[in-house]
Amino acid sequence: MQAKTNPVGIHSWVWTGQWTRNAAQTAIQQTREAGYDFLELSGIDPMSVDVKLTRELLADYGLGINVSLALTRDTDITSDDPKTVAAGQRLLQRAVDVVAELDGAYLCGVIYGALRRYDSPASAADRARSIRTLQDVADYATASGVTLGLEVVNRYETNLLNTASQALSYLDDLQRANVVVHLDTYHMHIEEGDMTSPVLACGERLGYVHVGENNRGPLGSGLVGFEEFFAALAAVGYSGPIAFESFSTAVVGPGLSSALCVWREMWRQPGEELAADARAFLEAAGYQLDTHYAGG
Ligand code: MN
Repeated sequence: MQAKTNPVGIHSWVWTGQWTRNAAQTAIQQTREAGYDFLELSGIDPMSVDVKLTRELLADYGLGINVSLALTRDTDITSDDPKTVAAGQRLLQRAVDVVAELDGAYLCGVIYGALRRYDSPASAADRARSIRTLQDVADYATASGVTLGLEVVNRYETNLLNTASQALSYLDDLQRANVVVHLDTYHMHIEEGDMTSPVLACGERLGYVHVGENNRGPLGSGLVGFEEFFAALAAVGYSGPIAFESFSTAVVGPGLSSALCVWREMWRQPGEELAADARAFLEAAGYQLDTHYAGG
């Protein structure tokens, strides 16, 4: 069997909630120094991200990048307001451009609806609007070779895709080859019955992975069954990206904190130790997966 390598990344909020020159420099340098292959740039407005600066810094440190974002009420593509849907499509297409301009491969996250607590279940019409819009975005992304990852998140953050099974059904209706399932162990721990069967159900349609603890704290310090999860990834021959996520009020500001309900200081700055520990944890999973550092 040919050796496969899972690119290992880290979510930018471990370092910073902003993307100024200083923040970008620090995040990129520290990601590299902690032994990661890529940075997942998250929550940055794709309309205003400084692509030139980011490209230069990535090249300086020989680091890869992927981008994640979450739609909001103003850009919710499940909305019955056509202007809101159009705003969402514009934002997603600009984000696809940013991924391509940064030589990234994936745009992932809650890109099929808003990240918010909904007051009612998603209707068939909400779901259909989301699918129609993402079909257009997926077609748009084909030109630049960008893959879209649908992040399955818990019930308090979406009413559309809470389980891998719902994401697979959505993909069946979407019918686009450049869209994959994005699983996150934090959300799986809330919504799934176990850490194995969702991965097996996805098989080759699993394309992006977030590893995070049930309380969003340091990797390996909580209740998530990583052993079962990594064994399942190995069983389906998963060779896609694995990005570490952890959030603390020590880094993310009030706006970002409230979006994800980060109310506590799960760890203190600086994040170097947290990042290095998570990297070692993932390296230890290398007996099942190839997460060995490939960089120079
Ligand atoms: Mn996630």
